[in-house]
Amino acid sequence: MTATINRTDIELSDDWRSWTPDEQDHWAREVRRLAAEKDAVILAHNYQLPMIQDIADHVGDSLALSRLAAASDRGTIVFCGVHFMAETAKILSPGKRVLIPDAAAGCSLADTINADQLRAWKAEHPGAVVVSYVNTTAEVKAETDICCTSSNAVEVVRSIDPDTEVLFGPDQFLGAHVRRQTGRSNIHVWLGECHVHADISPSDLMATVRAHPDAELFVHPECGCTTSALWMAGRGEFPRERTHILSTGGMLDAARTTTGTAVLVATEIGMLHQLHKARPDVTFTPVNPKAACPFMQMITPPKLLRSLREGTDEVVVDADTAERARRAVERMIAIGRPGGGE
Ligand code: SF4
Repeated sequence: MTATINRTDIELSDDWRSWTPDEQDHWAREVRRLAAEKDAVILAHNYQLPMIQDIADHVGDSLALSRLAAASDRGTIVFCGVHFMAETAKILSPGKRVLIPDAAAGCSLADTINADQLRAWKAEHPGAVVVSYVNTTAEVKAETDICCTSSNAVEVVRSIDPDTEVLFGPDQFLGAHVRRQTGRSNIHVWLGECHVHADISPSDLMATVRAHPDAELFVHPECGCTTSALWMAGRGEFPRERTHILSTGGMLDAARTTTGTAVLVATEIGMLHQLHKARPDVTFTPVNPKAACPFMQMITPPKLLRSLREGTDEVVVDADTAERARRAVERMIAIGRPGGGE
């Protein structure tokens, strides 16, 4: 049995969910062997499948991973996440080879706005400053003045002259959160949404909160339930001090320090894996247990192995687009607190 798993010529089926423990072990050894051979660092987003998270060199949110990619001394980055995240890593690491195990892994939120639509919106509001969430394509970032994450969106908008119009996109829930926090009336919000987070509804939230009245509540600001979480807290239906609007990175920080024993989590369910690892003594309950991102789940164990073996799929961003997009990301980093995001 042991001799079998040390061989490198075993063909693993694409049906990875039916792999035996020996096959899983063989896969893990092959991934690590090839990563060393190809001088590659493997990065995995918090929403990736648990097997992918567990084999990665680093797990985190999209921007933290892109910054790790830039700081890495490896020549190849294998980004296990969705396409705009791998593009952001490429934008910040133009000299490195960036691979994504499946280039078709898109994002329903990033797809709600393209560069032509953004240019048309800008033409309707000359002089406005464009703030875009990092969940956007490289072309949209290139048309953006300042990027933001869910952690620093409020801070980024506050850094803009209060008399200047702001175009904020593409996430309408994050935009509503920013408008509420800054009290600005001159902020226009693009009506995009992530279908996974939008499906975490106020009714899911109400039912879960009522079933766990003593739990803390972690809510990602892209969720459809964000407004109702704040509304419930405001009406005293749920204690404000136990309601936390957090990026994925912020959820992990809060999990590490919570004094509670139960936490309700309103975001994509892949996040639960890192939360359980960070605090095995705390019970984490998803507000919607069906909130799985189909794009994130396109990055499977066989595709990661193929990516390392065959160098697929390489992420390419043309130099001019990358340069303009990088400026928008770097302006955000200069404003501060760049951690977080999805
Ligand atoms: S969870 Fe939503 S925002 Fe995140 S990658 Fe999936 S579709 Fe995009």
